[in-house]
Amino acid sequence: MGTQIGRVGIIGAGQMGKGIAQVCTGAGFQVALNDISDERLKAAAADIDAAFGRDEERGKISAAERADRAKRLTVTTDYAAFGDCDLVIESASENEELKRKIFAQLCPVLRKDALIATNTSSISITRLAASTDRPEQFIGIHFMNPVPRMQLVELIRGIATDDGTFESARDFITRLGKTITISEDFPAFIVNRILLPMINEAVYTLYEGVGSVDAIDNAMRLGANHPMGPLQLADFIGLDTCLSVMQVLHEGLADTKYRPCPLLVKYVEAGWLGRKTQRGFYDYRSGTPVPTR
Ligand code: NAD
Repeated sequence: MGTQIGRVGIIGAGQMGKGIAQVCTGAGFQVALNDISDERLKAAAADIDAAFGRDEERGKISAAERADRAKRLTVTTDYAAFGDCDLVIESASENEELKRKIFAQLCPVLRKDALIATNTSSISITRLAASTDRPEQFIGIHFMNPVPRMQLVELIRGIATDDGTFESARDFITRLGKTITISEDFPAFIVNRILLPMINEAVYTLYEGVGSVDAIDNAMRLGANHPMGPLQLADFIGLDTCLSVMQVLHEGLADTKYRPCPLLVKYVEAGWLGRKTQRGFYDYRSGTPVPTR
């Protein structure tokens, strides 16, 4: 049997980290949410509070439950808050160097028996685990976006992950009310191994002038019954994250079929990262998405 999780730390209060914090507080866990940016933390706390406010208005939770949830959430830029956590989930930007630096800072403040998880979309769990002082207590817990709405969580063991860690993580995700799928530790795991090459191909379709943004998204929504067009989905995921995942696939599997589309690279270089920066394949600044090509 592994550790029973009660206190959860989350590093990175971006779109994923705040969603993870929301479902964890909602499921009764004590949560410490961390970011380097105070602004991000404030925005995340406000968004989480607004989500619980909507739950209360819809009668899903009582005013007392909403107040309890608020009490369970702490936001902080300080790692000291992780000292009493049973599990810390790293969900900072998709960059291996950055994640390694975070683990180097995190490990010394953790309890010896604390577990570390990463929400990486694509980076090797085994390699990240090896950069910590506890590869046996390290695991990939890959949430889907938006976390409160999506049912699936991918669970990925590194080569050294022990059974106790795996069981604790499985129990934790079940208590969040989510469904697990188990993936081996290969670049981008299952969902993104399949999804991101499709998105990259949609960007190539745009790049080669086969269709406009509207034509491509309408084709896949109405012609393949996808709930969102691939370019709309790319904006939703974040174009920097999409590019990172393609780079990991390209390098990790050494196959040219995973070559990131130069147009995707150009959007990222422009800082047009999708919804989170108000501009990507669509421009969101006026409130109504307008295709940028
Ligand atoms: P995001 O850009 O919205 O948020 C990243 C956050 O990390 C930012 O708030 C940033 O300030 C913070 N950060 C950067 N350096 C930090 C540090 N040293 N310490 C603490 N915080 C730091 O990105 P996101 O979409 O939330 O992605 C986060 C992780 O989740 C990535 O690993 C990504 O691959 C993964 N993921 C993303 C999706 C998706 O659809 N976007 C889905 C599943 C998993």
